[in-house]
Amino acid sequence: MSGTILIVDDLATNRIVLKVKLATAPYRAVQAGAAREALRMAMRDAPDLILVNARLGGQSAEPFVRALRRVDRLAHVPIVLLQSEDDTAERLALLRAGADEVLSKPIPEPLLLARLRNFLRQRMATEELLAQIGSVTGFAETQAALSPLGRVALFGPGRAEMLALRASLADQVPHRLTCLTLDTPPNREPQDVFVIRLAMAQAEEGLRLLADLKAAPGTRHCPVIAMLENDAAPLAVTLLDIGADEVVPARIRPEELAQRIARQMRHKRLKEGLHAHMRSGLEAALRDPLTGAYNRRHALPWLERQIARLTLNRKSLAVMVADLDFFKRINDRHGHVAGDAVLCAVTERLRAHLREGDLLARIGGEEFLIALPDTSRAQAQEVAARLCEAVSATPVIIPGGGAPIPVTLSIGVTVAASRPGLPPPLMQTLLEQADRALYAAKARGRNQARFCARSAA
Ligand code: GH3
Ligand code: MG
Ligand code: MG
Repeated sequence: MSGTILIVDDLATNRIVLKVKLATAPYRAVQAGAAREALRMAMRDAPDLILVNARLGGQSAEPFVRALRRVDRLAHVPIVLLQSEDDTAERLALLRAGADEVLSKPIPEPLLLARLRNFLRQRMATEELLAQIGSVTGFAETQAALSPLGRVALFGPGRAEMLALRASLADQVPHRLTCLTLDTPPNREPQDVFVIRLAMAQAEEGLRLLADLKAAPGTRHCPVIAMLENDAAPLAVTLLDIGADEVVPARIRPEELAQRIARQMRHKRLKEGLHAHMRSGLEAALRDPLTGAYNRRHALPWLERQIARLTLNRKSLAVMVADLDFFKRINDRHGHVAGDAVLCAVTERLRAHLREGDLLARIGGEEFLIALPDTSRAQAQEVAARLCEAVSATPVIIPGGGAPIPVTLSIGVTVAASRPGLPPPLMQTLLEQADRALYAAKARGRNQARFCARSAA
């Protein structure tokens, strides 16, 4: 994993020491000696992670962290601060200002590298989602504002100490807190964030629990904070590498743990929001924006899959091409907007007469592809007649007044079936058969369904 890390420290020697440490990993390190210079560099090049001395120019780096967070482009860039000694008050202030992590020196090198790897991994995943979605400026903030209360599970070796932990967090964490012991199955009820408290004696159970959480579909995206007793400190690197999102000492103050839970909750909401956004974007790409019916991009691969299944399930598949009659005339007489409204109304009527697993796609201006799995020739005939009737029965009422517009539809139908020992028909052949049948329906006076003369079943 590579990435650019911006190192910010007043002292050149500190910067060099860090750069040497990072040199063992495939990171590109760039440096800045002062907050202003660092801010300028970060705004220009958006690094993948910013590693900052907690004190800059003899003062807390808090204003610098706030300034970074105000830049839209840097909203999701991890900011990690290094304290020269453990200072809880300063750490809390930095976390509140928007830092992702504050580590106090001395920090064992493997731990520092594991933590950075972990941040860079998360950063890449978020970046990938953002890139797929396009520009989503301000998205995180909107999501956070809309977030309902969440659920936090507190796992630990003993119930009594977890109840004490819950009591200490109760007035600082607005989310629902559930205490669980390490042997409780994790999937009992959905959770958002997991906190796992471990001493060395529970190493095996803890690692297994973490691996299970990160593998199960329901919990894979849930952040995990590992709280380690002193003797379990050597587990930190392994925990981070198998997916823990944070590792903190068990003696952590409740307000700091609350702060970290809040940050992880925000992060999870952001990721959930991005995933949902992407799903709806993907779905939109498969639909025709005017009528909401599927488009060719969805319809043709869908049809290919159904045809491939014919040999397996030995059922038949009805394929229909439907085309509005004299639609050009409707446009010419009533205008394009009315024509659009007719297309929407026809789509609705067709949809209402199809089953859930059937396909309805708009594959041309006033042309639809309809496919019905597990449908015999007799059934297809009935459905096609019903569709013609559904469209022609009542003229379409156009918003904004005007006389209702009579509409009719012609349909060409073919039915494909699997025949033992023979390969399934080609999609192209089926579409051509349906097209020919449609042409016949038009030639015979429109407002009717015709079968392809040579369709099998
Ligand atoms: P036929 O019964 O032989 O199918 O005659 P037709 O008039 O329906 O067929 P033709 O192919 O001559 O005309 C189709 C018309 O559909 C022409 C085009 O302006 C119109 N059309 C295509 N897409 C849209 C659309 O998205 N909205 C509207 N309002 N009209 C469209
Ligand atoms: Mg037409
Ligand atoms: Mg047409």
